[in-house]
Amino acid sequence: MVKALKRYLNTFLLYELVKGLMVTGRHLFARKITIQYPEERTPMSPRFRGLHALRRYPNGEERCIACKLCEAVCPAGAITIESAQRADGTRRTTRYDIDLFKCIYCGFCEESCPVDSIVETRIFEFHFENRGEHIITKEQLLAVGDKYEKQLAADRAADAKYR
Ligand code: SF4
Ligand code: SF4
Repeated sequence: MVKALKRYLNTFLLYELVKGLMVTGRHLFARKITIQYPEERTPMSPRFRGLHALRRYPNGEERCIACKLCEAVCPAGAITIESAQRADGTRRTTRYDIDLFKCIYCGFCEESCPVDSIVETRIFEFHFENRGEHIITKEQLLAVGDKYEKQLAADRAADAKYR
């Protein structure tokens, strides 16, 4: 009987509605935690794991020595490498593909690379329009590396401070 009366009074006095409006009122002037993406951006970690890139040394020589550690460590089996020996006796990749549909952006390839060749960039806004474009080739990876080398080097240097 008391319970029913209480429920009736709550309904009559719009108690639930007032309670809800109080929550709205409490957050009306509080600091906003949402942003207007894409005009506004949140800060990004130098360890961000986005699209991959292959880096070169300052003299233009590609860093990758075709050791295949990244291919072996990749849990998704997303990396395919073929290699050959060059005339000067060094070994380099003849094929370096990453299937971006298989990749889970774990960063293991980056961690395993002994020469800091395969890295993950801050690029996360990319898409594919045609069948097959999800497989990114060595030439494309090197092109990404060339374009963002300055940022990649700065991120690696910042990250090294915390290791
Ligand atoms: S980020 Fe992880 S899943 Fe993607 S290619 Fe590298 S090791 Fe494989
Ligand atoms: S990217 Fe690094 S880990 Fe992968 S094959 Fe080249 S040198 Fe080895």
